[in-house]
Amino acid sequence: MALARFFRSCEEISPRLLTRDREIIAPLCSDWTRRVAGGAAALVRPSTEEELAAVVEAAVQADVQLHLQGGNTSLVAGATPFGDSVLLSTARLRSIADPDLPSLSITAEAGATAAEVNAALAPRHLKLGVDLASRESATIGGMVATNAGGIHVVRYGSMRTQLLGIRLVTPAHGAIGRLSPLYKDNTGPDLAAIAAGSEGLLGVVASAAIKAVPILEHSVVALLSFPSFAAVAEAARRIRLSPVVSALEFMTAPGMDLVSRHLGRSLPLVGEVFLLVEFESAFQLLDHVAEVLEDVAPATSALAFDARGKAELWRWREAHTEAIARAGIAHKMDVSLPITDLVEFVEWIEGAFAADHRSLDAYLFGHLGDGNVHVNLIGAEPGDLGPDEAVLAKAASMGGSISAEHGIGRIKAPLVHLVRTPSEIAALYALKDAFDPGGILNPGVLLPSPRGGHAIANAAPGRLA
Ligand SMILES: Cc1cc2nc3c(=O)[nH]c(=O)nc-3n(C[C@H](O)[C@H](O)[C@H](O)COP(=O)(O)OP(=O)(O)OC[C@H]3O[C@@H](n4cnc5c(N)ncnc54)[C@H](O)[C@@H]3O)c2cc1C
Repeated sequence: MALARFFRSCEEISPRLLTRDREIIAPLCSDWTRRVAGGAAALVRPSTEEELAAVVEAAVQADVQLHLQGGNTSLVAGATPFGDSVLLSTARLRSIADPDLPSLSITAEAGATAAEVNAALAPRHLKLGVDLASRESATIGGMVATNAGGIHVVRYGSMRTQLLGIRLVTPAHGAIGRLSPLYKDNTGPDLAAIAAGSEGLLGVVASAAIKAVPILEHSVVALLSFPSFAAVAEAARRIRLSPVVSALEFMTAPGMDLVSRHLGRSLPLVGEVFLLVEFESAFQLLDHVAEVLEDVAPATSALAFDARGKAELWRWREAHTEAIARAGIAHKMDVSLPITDLVEFVEWIEGAFAADHRSLDAYLFGHLGDGNVHVNLIGAEPGDLGPDEAVLAKAASMGGSISAEHGIGRIKAPLVHLVRTPSEIAALYALKDAFDPGGILNPGVLLPSPRGGHAIANAAPGRLA
């Protein structure tokens, strides 16, 4: 009944807004990991902010749940629809304005990908400060909603710090917010900052005004190997002091072997733990790089100065997600730790945790400069939350976060209590209530919802309850 009413409203908004075609919908109901398979009664794809606002209003009136999806790359089932709900995709909201040169910024609609926005900025020798391996698919809306981090956080910060303004379509207050060129606006709390990392709980991001940073002419990429994680952590601590570091990533031998088989290429270096460092500057930086590398004394190293060589070294890091997905259904934990506790955490995973979980293969990599470790476990049942909980509880007990960048999604929603007090969770529910009192947006994402949609632990393997 409710759905039929919603479908009629969508037809009135635009005849090409909604589809119920299973062949179009089915591929959108799971993600790269294949860990969770959902479903949706229909797919809506608004093309303008006005259409988007009308869809949200129609959903409020009919009391229909909307599950929001951008590029579907966040891998925590936050963008996975389920049950008799409606999947709202931003795939048709992709216009990008000309770069605003005086304010060094650009405005893009939610469905534009990071790569598309960078393509618009490149002729002006500008780029986004946030970059990530999923750049061809990850959208501006998804990057705001997850407060995306990525490979350059060590230099430019995460998505939240790049936002000058957003337009947010909310169930309670309609379309609100400004696409402002203002770098300073202290008129109360900042809507963009509140929406960043809110995983679609408060509203649908329609568009964002984002800072741009200059493309620096000189860059060097170095792949270094070390005998242990402790040695890598010490090297990273020293390299981080360099003012021209723009990426500081680590990988371990099991993951590098997997990537080597996936790409059909021999490893360029031998070692147990690897560090990929990118240096970028407007000025010549060879002497500086040589000085830094001499100081950290890696066991072996490979350097690249031209675009092709740099891309080849980056491939060793960026192919991890696809190589792991090919090896099996991964339980992905995306944790951050205080930098000083990283060694203890990694040694725990490779020691005590591995001894307790002998049937699992662990692949670790991450953004070392930000204390961010991606723990990927293959071998557990998709619906088994036990290994996830063990890893996340350990990170939480050490003062870390259970979501450094991909979000909490539906998979980790039952575990938010590990890092948030009951009062903090109550405050989050109150915030949700202020923007979305009917709970129609992304139920079960980030916070356990009275409307369900989060109970992976009780679901059949690979299914979302
Ligand atoms: C190979 C690979 C590498 C990655 N590397 C990184 C990395 O380095 N750093 C990093 O941070 N992440 C990384 N990710 C994760 C992912 O790319 C980011 O989380 C990205 O920001 C998600 O964008 P998306 O468009 O795919 O969002 P989706 O996955 O579609 O959605 C993410 C969440 O946001 C909500 N949402 C989507 N669009 C909107 C909107 N318009 N308004 C409100 N809510 C919305 C969804 O409901 C969901 O809860 C990586 C993923 C892959 C596959």
